[in-house]
Order: sequence, then structure tokens, then C-alpha cells
Amino acid sequence: MANKFFTLREIELNNNCPECYSRDGLQLTFKQRFIENFFYKAISSETAHSLFCKVCETMIFPVRWTDDIDRVFEYQQRATPPKPTSFKLKASSWVLMVVIFATLTAATLLLL
Ligand SMILES: [Zn+2]
Repeated sequence: MANKFFTLREIELNNNCPECYSRDGLQLTFKQRFIENFFYKAISSETAHSLFCKVCETMIFPVRWTDDIDRVFEYQQRATPPKPTSFKLKASSWVLMVVIFATLTAATLLLL
């Protein structure tokens, strides 16, 4: 089963990078998890986020965040609601159900 994340929103921050102090490299990304396999496609309520500096090419983990970054993050998180969860069966599931139903019906008819 593949667990994937799709990007909800990408925001360029004007804060200083805690690593290289550049003001034009920080990018905050909000992601949400979705599950896709042979039978169904579903959007889960689980979200993730990451902060990456494009100048020094470093992933900035929350322990390194400054108070300013914390504040901007909280604000942006409120401004980025996750997509509603959904669950969608794929055609392969419907085909399987029809086959099972037909088999059961045929078996019942044969027994009568
Ligand atoms: Zn940096």
C-alpha cells in the first residue's frame, strides 16, 4: 500500500533562515496524506509540513525555528485548512463485487 502526500500549499516566507540568515530562501510546504491502491483512493486527515531553505538547501526542523517562524507557521497553518477526507472505490473494486455477487447468486440458484 502506497502512502503518498500531495502538496496543499507552498508559501515563501520572508523570515531569516536560522542556518544561513538569508531572507529569501525559506519555503514552507503543507502536505496532506492520501492512500491509493488497487481497490480505492482515499484522502486521510493526516497533514504534514516542512520548512526548506532554498539558499543553503537545508531542511529546517522545528527545533531550529525562531519565534518569528513559529508565529508565521501558526498563522499559515490556520490559513491552510486540509481538504475534506474522502474515500473512492476504484472500478476494480466494483468489478470484484459484481463478480462475488454473481457467483453467490449462481451458487444459491444451483442449490435450490
Ligand atoms: Zn538557509
